[in-house]
Amino acid sequence: MPALLSSPFLTEDHLRVQQQVTTFTDTRIAPLAAEIEARGPHTDHEMRRVLTETGWLGVLIDTEWGGLGLGHVAKTLILQAISRVSPAAGAILQASILGAAPIAEYGSVEMRRTWLPEIAAGRCWPTIAVTDPEQGSHVLGMKATARRRGKHYVLTGEKILIGNAGIADVHCVIARTGRPGKRRSLTAFLVEKDTPGLDIIPAPVNGLHGFSVDTLRLVKVRVPKSHVIGRVGDGLAVAQKASVVYGRLNLAAVALGVHQRMLEETARRVSTRKRYNGHLSDLDTVGHRIAEMKTGLMSAELAAYFAAYLLDQGTACDPWLHYAKLTAHRAGAASSEQAKQLHGGHAAHTGSLIEQLRRDIDLIHAPAGPDDLQLKRLAESVLGPHRSQWSAQHAARPQTT
Ligand SMILES: Cc1cc2nc3c(=O)[nH]c(=O)nc-3n(C[C@H](O)[C@H](O)[C@H](O)COP(=O)(O)OP(=O)(O)OC[C@H]3O[C@@H](n4cnc5c(N)ncnc54)[C@H](O)[C@@H]3O)c2cc1C
Repeated sequence: MPALLSSPFLTEDHLRVQQQVTTFTDTRIAPLAAEIEARGPHTDHEMRRVLTETGWLGVLIDTEWGGLGLGHVAKTLILQAISRVSPAAGAILQASILGAAPIAEYGSVEMRRTWLPEIAAGRCWPTIAVTDPEQGSHVLGMKATARRRGKHYVLTGEKILIGNAGIADVHCVIARTGRPGKRRSLTAFLVEKDTPGLDIIPAPVNGLHGFSVDTLRLVKVRVPKSHVIGRVGDGLAVAQKASVVYGRLNLAAVALGVHQRMLEETARRVSTRKRYNGHLSDLDTVGHRIAEMKTGLMSAELAAYFAAYLLDQGTACDPWLHYAKLTAHRAGAASSEQAKQLHGGHAAHTGSLIEQLRRDIDLIHAPAGPDDLQLKRLAESVLGPHRSQWSAQHAARPQTT
């Protein structure tokens, strides 16, 4: 358990979740983790099956829709603990927790009634598909289009780097319905996986082995009007709210798990590697580097759990969410460098745990916004333009049917 986590962050429910997740990761995830990692870049289906047993896909889904309704601190605990044992498993779970956000936040009652219980039960794994091949993090610049044809929309375009693309049952796709540049020019759609014209194109990345981060190609994909998420023109809001309120902390939690494991593994290495009459850990410079890793992890945990706590309290906290993602990635990347130094040449051995963790932490940089984007948002929170906070809107959303 993260050391800081005593009062005020944890309730009895959190402690129970903590116990469950530790037992589950040790018994069910750890045995699969090494095997999945060793297979290299691929789309794994087994981890989805194992994770479905837990119900944690519904950790944020309200109990009225069959979810656990445990909130953001519990989610952060779960994702950190899983990612400590298998960063890919943490990435898989977080991508579909994120994929459920558009439906939970913007879906009509009918849409929530149809999809959220399926997601909570693990029968339906969603994605959120925003990223455009050319425009990337400039969401408003995206090229994918959705044209109205009677009672349908017809979607054409590509979405790249989509978490869980290869294992999902439904995709929340953002596409252009209005003129470029206008804030209300995008709309979100539910696209079921077997819809004609939708193809998943493998695009392997070197890290988080087993986690599908592939391309969605949409060629004249017909989607009924009833599959519009929210209102026509809500697409930018859907994408941004999901990224800020859900994505930032999801990725921060995965980074915390990777970071925690990196520290444990490096401490083990320096404590067992013989040098002179003792071990590497006896050297002051080595202890200093371990302390740097530890302080980085502590800062990142404080930021993430404080942001999660504020979200659970219904407090507006967008800057804390940006900061949590930024700090989790930066501190993890800094510890990756320390781990490299302390493992010497052995850090480069293909297939070693430290080599894997260093690859995995690198992949946390881009999703839910690269560091520079978090800095841009933090600068705006001081200098303006001052935006209304997504976390405040999240807190104010209707809770009932
Ligand atoms: C493991 C993984 C999982 C992912 N999962 C998903 C997913 O589930 N769904 C999805 O839609 N996407 C997903 N993505 C894509 C991710 O959201 C994008 O990679 C990210 O938004 C950045 O876009 P880009 O890679 O095109 O970089 P670009 O937008 O090309 O940016 C590159 C760099 O340019 C600079 N830059 C760009 N814009 C700005 C700016 N406005 N201010 C300051 N600097 C800037 C930054 O240094 C930035 O890192 C995932 C990516 C990865 C690696």
